Amino acid sequence: MKRFILLIFMLLPACFLAAQAGIERVEPPFWWTGFKNPGLQLLIYGKDIGNKAVSIAGGKQSDVIITAVHKVRSPDYLFVDLKIGASARPGTYTLNFSDGKKLFTSFKYELKKRISGSSLRKGFDNSDVIYLVMPDRFANGDTANDNIAGMKERADRSKPDSRHGGDIKGIINHLDYLKELGVTALWMTPLVENDQPVYSYHGYSATDFYKVDPRFGTNDDYVKLSEALHQRGMKLIIDEVFNHCGSEHWWMKDLPSEDWINQWPEFTRSTYRAGSISDPYVAVADSTQFSRGWFDKTMPDLNQRNPFMKNYLIQNSIWWMEFAGIDGIRQDTYPYPFKDAMSEWGKRMLEEYPDLNIVGECWMNYPATVAYWQKGSKNVDGFNSNLPSVFDFPIHDALIQAFNEKEGWNTGILRLYEIISQDFSYPDPKNIVTFADNHDVNRYLDTQNDDIRKLKMAMAFILTTRGIPEIFYGTELLMTTGADKGHGSIRKDVPGGWPGDVRNAFTAQGRTQAENDMYNFMHTLLNFRKSNTSLQTGKLLHFIPSDGIYTYFRYNSQSTVMVVMNNNEEQKLHETGRYREILKNFKSGKEVISGRDVTDLSKLTIPGKSVLIIELKH
Ligand code: CA
Repeated sequence: MKRFILLIFMLLPACFLAAQAGIERVEPPFWWTGFKNPGLQLLIYGKDIGNKAVSIAGGKQSDVIITAVHKVRSPDYLFVDLKIGASARPGTYTLNFSDGKKLFTSFKYELKKRISGSSLRKGFDNSDVIYLVMPDRFANGDTANDNIAGMKERADRSKPDSRHGGDIKGIINHLDYLKELGVTALWMTPLVENDQPVYSYHGYSATDFYKVDPRFGTNDDYVKLSEALHQRGMKLIIDEVFNHCGSEHWWMKDLPSEDWINQWPEFTRSTYRAGSISDPYVAVADSTQFSRGWFDKTMPDLNQRNPFMKNYLIQNSIWWMEFAGIDGIRQDTYPYPFKDAMSEWGKRMLEEYPDLNIVGECWMNYPATVAYWQKGSKNVDGFNSNLPSVFDFPIHDALIQAFNEKEGWNTGILRLYEIISQDFSYPDPKNIVTFADNHDVNRYLDTQNDDIRKLKMAMAFILTTRGIPEIFYGTELLMTTGADKGHGSIRKDVPGGWPGDVRNAFTAQGRTQAENDMYNFMHTLLNFRKSNTSLQTGKLLHFIPSDGIYTYFRYNSQSTVMVVMNNNEEQKLHETGRYREILKNFKSGKEVISGRDVTDLSKLTIPGKSVLIIELKH
C-alpha cells in the first residue's frame, strides 16, 4: 500500500506537467475517410500550442497531408487543415508538434471507416410524424446520473426550471410506447453538455459541442438510442444550435480570437425580428442587431463570419451525422446566424447526404417570410438557404385562432384555408413541418381553454393536410401548463416516467378516461396515416369554407381521403354538392376515427367542433 501511494506521488508531477505542456483538445476528436469533401480543419487546443510547428507522419507520400496551419490571436490554438485523399486508409495518423528541432508532443488522430451506405441515408419525409421530446422531462431511466460530481446544476424535481433527471435510457425504455402510438421520428431537444449553473435542462446552451451531457448519458448511449430507433423502423432527428453556445463553454475563458463570437461594448440583445433579414428596406443597424445581438446573457453569439467558426460548426454537424447514424436535423434559431454560412452548411450537408432532410426554426408569422428561408426560394436578393424544410409557424398561429373565434368573413376556420392557400410562396410546400405546439410556445390545450374537442381538431388537421406533422410529447396525454407559468411548466414530466410516480401514463391502466380517449384518437389517426399514402404524399384539393365548415381532400391513385371540419358549436347536416368535381367518383366511405361506414355521401352529419375523416370508396 505504501509503495502504491509513493508511486502515485512520483507520477503526479509528471502527469501534471504533461497536461500543461500538451494538448487538451482536438476537435473533431476523430474523423472518417470517404467523404466527398477531402478537407478537414482540426481545432487543436493546448498551452502555447500555437507556437509549435506541426507535421504529420508519412509526409507527402501519405494520402493524408497537412495543407495549411493557421495561428490565431490566442497562442493556445492551432487550426490545422488536412486533406484526406480518396485513397486514404482508415487508421491512426500521428501529428507531431515540435519546438524548433525538438519534438514537443505527438497526437494520434483516428480516421474511421464510414458505415457502408451512410451517404445514402434517407431523411425524414412526408411518410413521417415527428414526436418532440425534452429528454430531461420524458422519463428517468437511470437515477444514478441525475447528479454528476463537478457539474454546476443539481436535479430538483420540485422546481419547474431545474433539471428533473430524465435521460437517454428513459427514452429507450419507452420507444415501444412511441412505436405503438404511431409516430415514426424522434426529435429531442439538444443532448450536448450544458454545464450551466441554471436552466441547464433545456440543452440550448452548449458547453461542449462534441459530448452528450453526462446527466443524459454518454455518446455511446446516444448511438444505442439511434440503433434502437432504427430497429423499430423509426428515425432520429438531431437538434443543433449554430447561433450560440453557453456562457460556460470551455472556450469562453480563452477565445481563439476576439471575433470568434460577436462582441459589443455592452450587452446587446438580438431584436428577435427575424423578418429583418429578408426585409428589402431594412436598416443596417436593425439587421446587425438581429443577427449579431445575443440571444440571452448566458448565450454568447457565435460569429459564423469567422471562417474557423464556420468550419467548426459544419464539421460538428457532419460528425454527429456520421457518429450516431442520424436521419435528420432540426436547426435552432435558423435565421439568426450569418445566412451565407448557413447556406454553405446546407450545401455541404446535402453534398455528403443527398437525401438528408433539415428543418430550420424560422419563427415568423407569414408564409412569405418563412418561405424566404426554404431551399430554392426565388428571392429577389438571390439568397438560397439550401435548407430543405421549414416549420409552419403561420399554421401554428392560425390553429390557435381558428377554433376560438366566431365564424366571420375573415375569422374562424377560414384562418386555416387562408394560410394553406398561400402555399405558392413555398418552393416545396409538402416539405414543411406542421405543428400545433412545441417546447417554446403554450401547450395547445392552454390556448383553447382546455377544450379537448379543439385539440382533436388541431391534431386531425396537421395529420391530414400537406406537410410533415410534429407532435409535442404529452399531447396524447392531454398535458397542459395549467395554472403554472413559464417555459419550465410547458415542459412537465410525463407521469410514470420517474421511479415512484403515483401513476404510469405510459400504460392504459395508468391513464385517466379522458387521457385514454385522447390517446386512442391519436393512436387511430397516426396508424391510419402510417398506412395511407394519400395523407402522406397525395395531392391536396380544398374548398372555400362556408357555414363554418372546411372541407378538403387528399388523393392519389390508390386512395382518396375526405376531411370535413365543423367549427360550429352545433351539429350540422352538411350538403356536399359543392364538392362534386371530386366526390362524383365515389359512392361511400369509411370514417377513420369511429370506423363507421358512410353510405350516403350527399349529406353528412357532423357534431359541433369536430372532424370527419372519410376514406372514400368507389
Ligand atoms: Ca437520470
